[in-house]
Amino acid sequence: SFSLDGETAVVTGAAQGLGRQMASALVDVGADVAIADVNAEKAERTATALGEGAESEVVAVDVDVTDEASVTSMVETVTDRLGPIDVLVNNAGIVENAPAEETDIESWRRVVAVNLDGVFLCAKQVGQQMLERGEGRIVNISSMSGFDVNVPQKQASYNTTKAGVRMLTQSLAVEWGDRGVRVNAIAPGYMRTDLVDEVLEENPEMAEEWLENTPMGRLGRPEELEELVVYLASDASSYMTGSTVVIDGGYTS
Ligand code: NAD
Repeated sequence: SFSLDGETAVVTGAAQGLGRQMASALVDVGADVAIADVNAEKAERTATALGEGAESEVVAVDVDVTDEASVTSMVETVTDRLGPIDVLVNNAGIVENAPAEETDIESWRRVVAVNLDGVFLCAKQVGQQMLERGEGRIVNISSMSGFDVNVPQKQASYNTTKAGVRMLTQSLAVEWGDRGVRVNAIAPGYMRTDLVDEVLEENPEMAEEWLENTPMGRLGRPEELEELVVYLASDASSYMTGSTVVIDGGYTS
């Protein structure tokens, strides 16, 4: 029941990083996957790379998750090309670091627009289609920062949106619980993506703090999300909805 053979999945923000890794895991278990990203060129390259030698189809689709019309057209394109959507992974997200008292409202709104509006808009539109069919699974990407403030990082907007993703996950799970649509979330700790490597290059002292506070003594590897996303996206998790699964080497414990 870990198989997604013949099913259609959309992963937002999948041109790179954790989204790409999770998209690759869904391809491996047989899903046709849409790489939905605002970076069209990179999405195209990723779709080509993941599709190579795969049994299933991988396509790139342009989307700006903050824009409702763009989300509508993404859902139409995916449905036309790959069929009705069985799995949605809401992964697109951004970070803007600044002390709260110096954060301008434009920065705050950019983070809220991608991390919260984007998750809501995609869940709403794909959710409508799933509710009509009476089946579907949504996996939202929150963060351990939605549970605990990582003290050296000044990112009130990010932390707030990631906590919001948890509550949105619970709210949708409750509303849609008896209508065949399950909604869960993943809250990763620091996974070694290019993004995290950049932060560490700029602030090597951060690495020390992270490792000190991570009982397992190391950062996560992006591939360590693979089985979890497949679990939540498939019938393997058939009695699970409204949960946010933390995967952080013990950081928030
Ligand atoms: P990343 O920056 O490497 O990738 C994000 C992707 O989202 C990019 O391809 C980008 O083009 C796309 N994107 C940005 N804005 C978009 C928009 N408006 N519409 C569509 N796509 C858009 O980030 P990542 O490290 O892979 O993180 C992915 C998700 O995981 C994010 O939600 C992030 O908050 C979360 N997360 C990451 C970590 C980590 O350690 N890397 C930890 C916890 C949570």
